[in-house]
Amino acid sequence: MTKAQLIKELETLRKQVIEFKEAEIRHTQTDETLQTSEEKYRSLFEGSRDAIYVTSREGKFIDANQATFELFGYTRDEMIGMNVIETYVNPADRVRFQLAIEQKGYVRDYEVKFRKKDRTEIDCLLTANIRQGDDGNILGYQGIIRDITERKKMEKALSWEVEANAAVADLSRALLSPASVEDISSLILDNAKHLTDSEFGFVGYIDPQTGYLISPTMTKDIWDKCQVKDKDILFKKFRGLFGWVINNKKSVLTNTPANDTRSSGTPKGHVPIQRFLSAPALIGKTLVGQVSIANSTHDYTDKDLALIERLAALYAIAVQRERAEETIKQMAYHDSLTGLPNRLLFNDRFTLALAQAKRNKQKLAVMILDLDKFKEVNDTLGHNTGDQLLKDVGKRLAVLLRKTDTVARLGGDEFIVLLPTIKRYNDSTEIAYKIMQAFQEPFDIDDHKIRNTTSIGIALYPRDGGDVDTLMKNADIAMYRAKEQGRNRYCCYTLVVRIKS
Ligand code: GH3
Ligand code: MG
Repeated sequence: MTKAQLIKELETLRKQVIEFKEAEIRHTQTDETLQTSEEKYRSLFEGSRDAIYVTSREGKFIDANQATFELFGYTRDEMIGMNVIETYVNPADRVRFQLAIEQKGYVRDYEVKFRKKDRTEIDCLLTANIRQGDDGNILGYQGIIRDITERKKMEKALSWEVEANAAVADLSRALLSPASVEDISSLILDNAKHLTDSEFGFVGYIDPQTGYLISPTMTKDIWDKCQVKDKDILFKKFRGLFGWVINNKKSVLTNTPANDTRSSGTPKGHVPIQRFLSAPALIGKTLVGQVSIANSTHDYTDKDLALIERLAALYAIAVQRERAEETIKQMAYHDSLTGLPNRLLFNDRFTLALAQAKRNKQKLAVMILDLDKFKEVNDTLGHNTGDQLLKDVGKRLAVLLRKTDTVARLGGDEFIVLLPTIKRYNDSTEIAYKIMQAFQEPFDIDDHKIRNTTSIGIALYPRDGGDVDTLMKNADIAMYRAKEQGRNRYCCYTLVVRIKS
C-alpha cells in the first residue's frame, strides 16, 4: 500500500468514525426524545382530571389513570383486570356503546350512567376510540370519562325550578278564572304529585259549617289500596299525620312515618305510608284546607316542602275566593234577615219551574202569604221581636215544605211559596191549610208567646195564568181577597173571580 493509498484509507475510516459517532449521537437524541415524549404523555395521562382508561376488547381494564380510580372509588389493583360492565348501571348501555364504537371507530360525548364501588350512580360523558393492531384487528378501546353528575343535577334542579314556576303560574291563572274549588283541588294535587314524584296524595278544604275536611280529590287508587272501613271523602276526625297538620296548623315532612310519634291514631287498614309530606292551607291563622302527598320510593327534601307550602298557599286563596263568592251570591240572592231566598232567586226558580211544568204538562202552585196585623207586633213588642217573628215564620214554613219547594221572603211581612210539581190543584189548598195549622202554635220569642196568623193567596198553573207575572199578580189578588174576607184564611184566584162575578 502506497503512502497515498494509506492516507486515503485513513481518511475513509475517519469519515466512517465521524458518521458512526454522528449516528450514535442522533440515536441517543431520538431515544431521549422518545423518552421525553413518553414521560410527557404519562404525565398528561396521570395529571388529567378526566378519567382516561385503556381496555381489552372484552372490556377488561388494562390501564387507567389516577382520576379513573378516584372517579369509581376502586384501587388500581381492584380495577385493573376488572370488566367495565361492572361499572355500568344499565348493561344495555354497554351494548349500545360497543355497537356505536365498532361501527364508526369512535364515540363522542356518549352519555352514560356508571356505578361506583360504593353503589352510588354517576352521570358521565364518554369519548372513546378503538385500539387497532398492525393487522387491523381490534385490540380494545381507550377512552376519556368526564363526570357530569353535578352539571346534570344543576340542569335537573333548573328544569324542576322552571317546571315548578310554570305550575305555580298555571295555578295563579286558574285562580283568576271561574274554576271551581274542586277543579283547583285536582290541579294542585296533579302538580304536587308530579313535581315531587309522589304516588299518593290528597287535597281538601275545611267545610266552615261543620269543620270537617272535604277532599274532592280522593282518588280511586287510594280507595282501592286503603282498607279502612266506612271511607268517605269527608273526614270528621283528624287523626294520624294528616290530623296533626290540621290540629297544629303546621307542615309535616317525615321520611320515617312509622316511627313518628305524630302519626298516632292512624285507623286500621290505612295504606302503609312510607314518606309523608303535608302542608296546611292557611288564611292568616285560619285553617281552610290541606295539601298532602306520600310515596314509598324516595325521601322528601326541604325543596319539596317549600313547593307543597307554595301550593297550599295558592290553595288557601282558591278556597277563600270560593267562600267570598258564595257569600256574595248568598247576599245577592238571599234575604239578610231570614236567610231565605229573596225575590231575585225566587223569580229565577219560578221561571225555571214554570218552563219545566209547561214541558212536562204538569201543574204548579204559587202562594203569597202576608202576616195578619203584623204591625201590632212591632208596635207592642218592638221591632226586634217583629224581626224574630219573621225569622221564626221562615223556619216554620221551611220545615213544612219539601226540599223541591221554595219558600222566599219578598219583603215586609210577605212570604211566597212555590210548589213546582203538584198532581191536583187541591194539593195546594191542602198545603195552605197545613201552613195555617202551623200558625196555630204560638211563637216563643223573648218570653212572649206570640199568636199570629196569615192570609194566603193561591194562583195555579195553568188554570190561573201561563206566565210568572200573571201568576204572581193573581196570587196577590187572591191574598188580598183573603184579607178582605177576614184574614187567617186562604183564597184561590179562580174562586175569587167566581165570587166577584
Ligand atoms: P195586614 O193584616 O193587613 O197585613 O196588616 P199588617 O199589620 O201586617 O200590615 P202590612 O202587612 O200592610 O205591613 C207590614 C208591616 O211590617 C209594615 C212594616 O212596619 C213592617 N215591616 C216591614 N218590614 C219589616 C222588617 O224587616 N222587620 C219588622 N220588624 N217589621 C217590618
Ligand atoms: Mg201584614
